Amino acid sequence: MSETRQLPAPVPEVNPETEPFWAATARGELLVKQCAECASVIWYPRALCPDCGSLRTRWQPVSGRGRVYSYTVNHRGEGPYRDCGPYVLAYVELDDGPRLMTNIVGAGDSADVVGELAVGLPVEVVFHDTGEGSALPRFRPRAN
Ligand SMILES: [Zn+2]
Repeated sequence: MSETRQLPAPVPEVNPETEPFWAATARGELLVKQCAECASVIWYPRALCPDCGSLRTRWQPVSGRGRVYSYTVNHRGEGPYRDCGPYVLAYVELDDGPRLMTNIVGAGDSADVVGELAVGLPVEVVFHDTGEGSALPRFRPRAN
């Protein structure tokens, strides 16, 4: 049996606007922003509401549950992903609204999940520690 393939967890670029998001991932918590003026859920994390322009936005924890909206199987990655194909790049639509670009991983957080994939597949967030005070939110299949 071959060893379990894992995806690398490269350190993200953190700036003052996204620091609370990444700090939360290190605690195993997924945050999104919500606009205090128009109630839009904002993704990706940023200071300004893209719908109404308000700067009155606040962080909200979300469940981390959602469904695969779209996906592709990458056979040849770049940079730290160069030798880890095939792996899954996907949009996950959270139950709370926004769609995140992410990876889908399998049992034991392995990269081997291709056979389970389908649009609409129920998934839940898992966090892959970067070792630098942040973790990458990825998703794995879940029972309904
Ligand atoms: Zn707004």
